[in-house]
Amino acid sequence: MNRKKETAIKAVLFDLDGVLYVGDHMIPGAIESVQQVLDMGLPVAGLTNTTTQPKSAIAEKLAGFGIAIHKSDIYTPAALAVRAIADGSAKLYVRDSLLEDFQGIRTTDENPDYIVMGDLGGEGYTPELLHAIFNAVMEGAVVLALHKNRFWQKPDGLHLDIGPFVAAIEYATGTKAMVLGKPSEDFFHGVCAALHVEPESALMIGDDIESDIGGAKEAGLKTALVQTGKYREDFVRATGIKADLLLPSIADLPDALNLL
Ligand SMILES: [Mg+2]
Repeated sequence: MNRKKETAIKAVLFDLDGVLYVGDHMIPGAIESVQQVLDMGLPVAGLTNTTTQPKSAIAEKLAGFGIAIHKSDIYTPAALAVRAIADGSAKLYVRDSLLEDFQGIRTTDENPDYIVMGDLGGEGYTPELLHAIFNAVMEGAVVLALHKNRFWQKPDGLHLDIGPFVAAIEYATGTKAMVLGKPSEDFFHGVCAALHVEPESALMIGDDIESDIGGAKEAGLKTALVQTGKYREDFVRATGIKADLLLPSIADLPDALNLL
């Protein structure tokens, strides 16, 4: 059934982790909901602040679940970072697995123009590492933060994300990082442009009230908050941000699309 004419929505943007899956577990209804959107003739996109995996690995994971969002439909902050660095030099604090998305960038340990702060494996942002970044910024390096999330959901609970560490560098140096992932307006507008839709005709679905919903609203998109992943009722209320739709889970998307 083609219901495209019945909705003002012309494209659907999905946050991935917490919306379609949590860790290695797919959220029931994810396959069917994405397929329903495609069957309505609408383009889909996967927007993720994940900087632990290259696009190719994210695409493989989705394919493994049977979710029809392909590599060319996935948008990450790494590409924006590469564009910002251009022919400057950079010191990359990202997992080795993400390096394939930074091919062609000139990297250096000595006086880099840019410091890229992404998710790290191992012990992450240790005091020693933060000290090194602090000194580089004091000498003129600009921080490119792949995102600035406060915390994230792992199967064993909530964990500090990279935002608090980016904030620590900003506070210590009195400078502002350039934040490339959600909730950056440029990120949402870039995806809408790639899908050839106006922001007000796009629906962003997320589990993060600030990065997904707050960012998308600010950028002029319609929004749907799912009550899965990192969703916490108290936290949502405290932000004062209201999504256009509140969905128990992604399984409720098909019915809700007709309401917009
Ligand atoms: Mg999420």
